[in-house]
Amino acid sequence: MNSVSRKVPTHSSAETQRRLAYFRLAYFKDRRDEIVSTIRELVEIESPSDNKAAVDRVAEAVAHKFSQLGGKVRVHPAKEFGNHLQVDFDSAGQAADKPVLLLGHYDTVYPLGTLASMPCRAVDNKLTGPGVLDMKSGIALMLHALAALQDWHKEDWHGGLPRPVTVLLVSDEEVGSDSSRPITESLAKKAAAVLVLEPSYGSHGAVKTARKGVGEYLVKVTGKASHAGLDFQKGVNAILELARQIEKISGFTDLKKGLTVNVGIVSGGSRTNVVPAEASAQVDVRIARMKDAAGIDKKMRTLRPFNRKCKIEITGGINRPPMERTAGVAALYAQAAAIARELGWKLGEAAVGGGSDGNFTAGLGIPTLDGLGGAGDGAHATHEHILISELPRRAALIAGLIEAV
Ligand SMILES: [Zn+2]
Repeated sequence: MNSVSRKVPTHSSAETQRRLAYFRLAYFKDRRDEIVSTIRELVEIESPSDNKAAVDRVAEAVAHKFSQLGGKVRVHPAKEFGNHLQVDFDSAGQAADKPVLLLGHYDTVYPLGTLASMPCRAVDNKLTGPGVLDMKSGIALMLHALAALQDWHKEDWHGGLPRPVTVLLVSDEEVGSDSSRPITESLAKKAAAVLVLEPSYGSHGAVKTARKGVGEYLVKVTGKASHAGLDFQKGVNAILELARQIEKISGFTDLKKGLTVNVGIVSGGSRTNVVPAEASAQVDVRIARMKDAAGIDKKMRTLRPFNRKCKIEITGGINRPPMERTAGVAALYAQAAAIARELGWKLGEAAVGGGSDGNFTAGLGIPTLDGLGGAGDGAHATHEHILISELPRRAALIAGLIEAV
């Protein structure tokens, strides 16, 4: 495969570009089974966000793989969560270039032992397993794209990468990224662009160019308990007050703006014969535009009791800004679509409601493209899987983007 070992010449003809894309695709097709076995290795080390020891185990395995590629590994210790992993690759090419940041996470939503009922198995074109789509295949794609770039450039740059690359894999993305957010933001600020290897969208593997921002609120109502039979009138029913608040809160939804408010969990009361003194609701807020953040936050925070005898307490806030399709994001997508076109692939884009760490980097104004990881379905569900046949072209796209941005 030596014919591939060339940097993309800037003035090459369209024909040369096409031929190069073809060889790169063939390169990854030849290595498809290797990519699958890397994914399997990572899936078989279970790593639920709330189990530090387990997440640290997968972090170590991943760190070892990146260091084998010559990356400088730096562990960011975390107390309550697994450690976060940063890997830096110098460039043998334009060393002055800003790095591209490859972003992802190795925690999953699945408790230890899930593998027993949901083994990592290849059946026809599907590879199953906990976290296979979200997002252990994304980590494997990073590894294989970097290894390929080193291979392709081994003559001109002695096995170095054509540009500096920083990899950041965090341990707490599935539980809000509280402990990793400052690291993500500080590395993003130094980067030329951020490529997020979260799952792609749909069966054709569209990338994500917009994500909604996410907020969480807890609405707590305090009333007064009393015997429902003996002292009914002395009680102040917190559940009744909460019910009226829920009606009001739900009315904040504005679908035209892409703003939704979902009361997802309610609790309250102790017994049927007691007027309830306490009730609370947990609320999920999604915003498509940053400019709507302050408004909805104010509406939530200024909720006042309908019944003056009740007390109401609001905590929480907007914790992920939306990833908006800015000019920088659109330009990055255009670059990705052009690389995909050479590979014979019409790469789609999607706007989704779910957040990722890409929201933080895009929120800082750094061009961010998300959903570059595996293609499949069933993230966080028992049928989670990736499509094996999609792996080669996704690896080729990621390698191309690392070079181009
Ligand atoms: Zn994810």
